[in-house]
Amino acid sequence: MCTSALEAAECIMKMHPMWQGPLAVPGGDRQSPIDIAVRKTQWDRQLKPLEMRYDPRTCQQIWNNGYSFMVEYDDTTDRSTVKGGPLEDQYRLCQFHFHWGESNAWGSEHSVDRRLFPAELHLVHWNSDKYSLFEEAVMEENGLGVVGVFLKLGKRHEGLQKLVDALPAVRHKDSVVEFGRFDPTCLLPENTEDYWTYYGSLTTPPLTETVTWMVMKQPIEVSHDQLAVFRSLLFTSAEEEVQRSMVNNFRVQQPVGGRSVRSSFDPFQHGEPSAL
Ligand SMILES: [Zn+2]
Repeated sequence: MCTSALEAAECIMKMHPMWQGPLAVPGGDRQSPIDIAVRKTQWDRQLKPLEMRYDPRTCQQIWNNGYSFMVEYDDTTDRSTVKGGPLEDQYRLCQFHFHWGESNAWGSEHSVDRRLFPAELHLVHWNSDKYSLFEEAVMEENGLGVVGVFLKLGKRHEGLQKLVDALPAVRHKDSVVEFGRFDPTCLLPENTEDYWTYYGSLTTPPLTETVTWMVMKQPIEVSHDQLAVFRSLLFTSAEEEVQRSMVNNFRVQQPVGGRSVRSSFDPFQHGEPSAL
């Protein structure tokens, strides 16, 4: 049984199909996720605000890929994009997904001063100024820009509920359901000016080190019931005899090494940094 966050992560490494077999790209020295040690972050006054512009009409479908559920967007045009912040180019939204735990004590991939959150949202964008397809960008320098948002336990999130209501339709692995007109702006925290940024990797195979991470400081609030619906999804397809709950779908944390984590804000301006 997986009794701690670390053991849970190791269980996934052993059991989950996505983590079996040799990896396409062996881990290098800028892997993700990491712990963000606030006292070691560097306040970069040059960091501009992020500009996220999403067109809800580009939202297409939800897909249970056997590891998480992906909310997929039409990325053939620049209608849903992020730019600004640490990014020199414009990046297109292709999908968002979440990572979560079996309990509310863990589930996020990143942590802040070792504090884990019950879940973490990843909005995945690719550099459409330099590349022509996600599949190309994923392997290339400055190919991807991922916005991370922590989910904490609190009141019901009205914006998320539309998505939660659609999840029973993709309970099993490989199921897909049409899902339109969803604006992921509603999943961003009120304050998007304060974020951390560092250079890292995808946290699922192929683990390529082509990601500019932008992790929001302010979490969003979701209810226990909403997380319970995430946990009612399955890693397994309808045909499999033994069904397994989709929980603990996060990667174990990686060494920061010599990397710098920059913040867009003064980490000491609002009292103790750990009092988020
Ligand atoms: Zn992710």
